[in-house]
Amino acid sequence: MALYPKLILDALAQVRYPGTGKNLIEMGMIEDDMKIEGETVSFSIIFDKPNDPFIKSVVKAAEATIEAFVGEPVQIKGNITVKAKQAPKPEPEKHLSAVKNIIAISSGKGGVGKSTVSANLAVALARAGYKVGLLDADVYGPSVPKMFGVEDARPYLENIDGRDLIIPAEKYGVKMLSVGFFVSPESATVWRGSMAGNALKQLIGDAHWGELDYFLIDLPPGTSDIHLTVMQTLGITGAIVVSTPQEVALADAKKGIDMFRNEKVNVPILGLVENMAWFTPAELPQNKYYIFGKDGVKNLAEKMEVPLLAQIPIVQSICEGGDKGTPVALNPESLTGMAFDELAARVAEQTEIRNLTQPATEKIKMKQKK
Ligand code: ADP
Repeated sequence: MALYPKLILDALAQVRYPGTGKNLIEMGMIEDDMKIEGETVSFSIIFDKPNDPFIKSVVKAAEATIEAFVGEPVQIKGNITVKAKQAPKPEPEKHLSAVKNIIAISSGKGGVGKSTVSANLAVALARAGYKVGLLDADVYGPSVPKMFGVEDARPYLENIDGRDLIIPAEKYGVKMLSVGFFVSPESATVWRGSMAGNALKQLIGDAHWGELDYFLIDLPPGTSDIHLTVMQTLGITGAIVVSTPQEVALADAKKGIDMFRNEKVNVPILGLVENMAWFTPAELPQNKYYIFGKDGVKNLAEKMEVPLLAQIPIVQSICEGGDKGTPVALNPESLTGMAFDELAARVAEQTEIRNLTQPATEKIKMKQKK
């Protein structure tokens, strides 16, 4: 009797997988790789686990049923391949399914105030009533723990819906995780390349971030594999690039913008933040000294056709607030607090423009009017 695929499939439709009552075809266990050569048939049966206890009995039952269907001995022995189905890898973004907006904050150079802006923006958004998460992904210099005064926080694991998840630290209404919680500051710099990428994937995908309106990611300075990992792991809503107005910083900021705009990355730029835009002494709040040059980032924003989100002056309290773990954005009455409120409003506005979820700006504007 000639062998043909339908005959074999009909036979396999009679073989049940023990325990389920369903046959191998219904279970999707027969791979689409059947070959028939003369009297020899070969195909693969897929099992969920490589150590499935029913492998032998199912293979035997398949052989016997095919022979019974064909009515004569068939050369199938050794030609049934058993494959284990690859357990689908959990996509980290699935675990961020309750996160509405993911915003990457980057800079071309270190020391321009990227983490200061990230921390204060997070606090300003939280004060405006949003649910905010902050991931300190700056593996070369994680500073979020210090800026929030939570250096001693040791995030713990909790079993949630059958998965062990890292519970972020929380302060000033901001949930946060940092590589700084897991390594001493001195050894953070050795987290390079794939090791850093993997650690970050874990802090994103294996953490209980829960529902968030804004998930801010404080990226390392420059452009690196880590940036690509984060971009490829997550659907980023938009990026913010922080720079000082100084020429050398601007050149690197432009490289950062080009990276986000690269067709492989393709992340919209929400806008630029000009930090250290001028120096204002506390005793002469109206005076502005343009230490790093005037409007450098503003001009770059115009040239690159991206919004300028804020110009933040150099003010001693910003630096002190960072060192003491009390971000200036906690104080809405101060000039600096207002500057970060304004930044939060612009970020919310730009996020909305990018077709996002909720009436964000109004809340913040109302808050500011009070
Ligand atoms: P980055 O994350 O870009 O490396 P940081 O946010 O750590 O930079 O800032 C570098 C230093 O500059 C910190 O000591 C911080 O407190 C200080 N700093 C940042 N922005 C300001 C500002 N606008 N006014 C005063 N000090 C600032």
